[in-house]
Amino acid sequence: MTPTTITPQNAKPATKSYATPAVAEVVQKVKQDLRMGRAHQQGRINWITTIAMGLFHVGAIAALFCFSWKNLAAFAIMYFFAINVGIGMAYHRLLTHRGYKTPKWVEYFVSFCGTLALEGGPIFWVATHRVHHQNSDQEGDPHTPHDGTWWAHAGWILSGRALHSETALLGRYAPDLTRDPVHVWLSKYHYASIVLTGVLQLVIGAALASPGHAVYGAVSMLLWGTFLRVTVGLHATWLVNSATHLWGKRRFETKDDSRNNWWVALLTGGEGWHNNHHAHPVSARHGLAWYEFDPNYYGIWFLSKIGLAEKIQVAQYDKENPKPAGA
Ligand SMILES: [Zn+2]
Ligand SMILES: [Zn+2]
Repeated sequence: MTPTTITPQNAKPATKSYATPAVAEVVQKVKQDLRMGRAHQQGRINWITTIAMGLFHVGAIAALFCFSWKNLAAFAIMYFFAINVGIGMAYHRLLTHRGYKTPKWVEYFVSFCGTLALEGGPIFWVATHRVHHQNSDQEGDPHTPHDGTWWAHAGWILSGRALHSETALLGRYAPDLTRDPVHVWLSKYHYASIVLTGVLQLVIGAALASPGHAVYGAVSMLLWGTFLRVTVGLHATWLVNSATHLWGKRRFETKDDSRNNWWVALLTGGEGWHNNHHAHPVSARHGLAWYEFDPNYYGIWFLSKIGLAEKIQVAQYDKENPKPAGA
């Protein structure tokens, strides 16, 4: 048998080549745009997001001048649906980590609640959070305090390169959601729920106001139920990215800097037990000791009791020698 001689004419390239330069360019762009973390994402200020955030903060401060028990009730009800049901139970524990299962209509309803938090649609949120788990506190983490505390808290939202709009790119991290037209729709029109519930608050606020004060009643309920509520909810969620990677106790020796932080857990319905979560990401239960208050898990437990949730994953670990899952 004659050995084949490799000549420049029959040599095959060591790396895969693409049919046209245009395809290669697109592939390269996708690879670059998906590199999260400050080194790759810091860029121009994202003005639309920054102006929207500024307006919500102004509205939040204005709300403090028109307190009423009715307005506080609007705040509490909306906060519960947006942050507990929407972000904790739906976006995080159900959609990102699939820690339990629900009928599709329940999944869609709780995901709709997630859009109330003004944290983007399900595809953006889930993809970003999966990248966070993949690269926690390493290069490529979208929001690690290693890149600065402010960057981890809000800087990555205000001056990142607006990955929100890059649904097609982010879809690589959430193919389960991009295949589902309802999640695609919720992601595209994620602001619709805020407009809808805002109008409802105006109507209810006017209806409940004393005679002659309809406009004040309407506007003040909107300020509490939407502007102050969204602003507090955003900071509570952002604290999971900043504070729980900086301050608190570590039960598990995970590869990242995650911590269990009781006050972030109180603000977020249990998401502050973040070291437990990084050690056992699929567990629908984040508070693993009886004293670790975890209302979002109690919500999932309640759903299972009325037949709307099943296959709930709960972390099992040795209390004497706690180890992360798979260690
Ligand atoms: Zn984390
Ligand atoms: Zn997570």
